[in-house]
Amino acid sequence: MSILDLLFLNFSTVGFSLIVLPTAVWVLVDARTLRVKKGNLGGGFFDMGVAGWFFSCLLLWIVAFPAYLAKRGEYKDQSPSTMPDSSVRGHRKCPDCAELIHADARKCRFCGLVLPINQA
Ligand SMILES: [Zn+2]
Repeated sequence: MSILDLLFLNFSTVGFSLIVLPTAVWVLVDARTLRVKKGNLGGGFFDMGVAGWFFSCLLLWIVAFPAYLAKRGEYKDQSPSTMPDSSVRGHRKCPDCAELIHADARKCRFCGLVLPINQA
C-alpha cells in the first residue's frame, strides 16, 4: 500500500465520519420529527421510511442527502406536528380520506375525491 493509498483511505474515513455520519444521523432525527414514512410521497424512488433515508444517506450520501433536502419540504407539508388539525390556515381535511389538502383544491391529491368548492 502506497502513502497515497493511505492518505486516500484516511481522507475518506475522515470524510465519512465528519460529513456522512453526522448528516445521516441528522436525517434520521429530522425524518422522525417530520414523521416520515413510506407512502408519504405517494410512491416513487425516494418514497422511503426513516430507516430507508438513513441507510441511503450512509450508502449513497451524494444522492440521498440532496434528495432528502429536496423532499423535506413535501414531508414538512404533511407533517402532523406542523399541522395539528384542519383549522390550519390554507388547508382543510378531505372528507373522504381525512388527509390535509389545500383549502382551494378541487380534487384531493391523496384519494382523488372531487371536492365541493370551498365556502370560506
Ligand atoms: Zn382524500
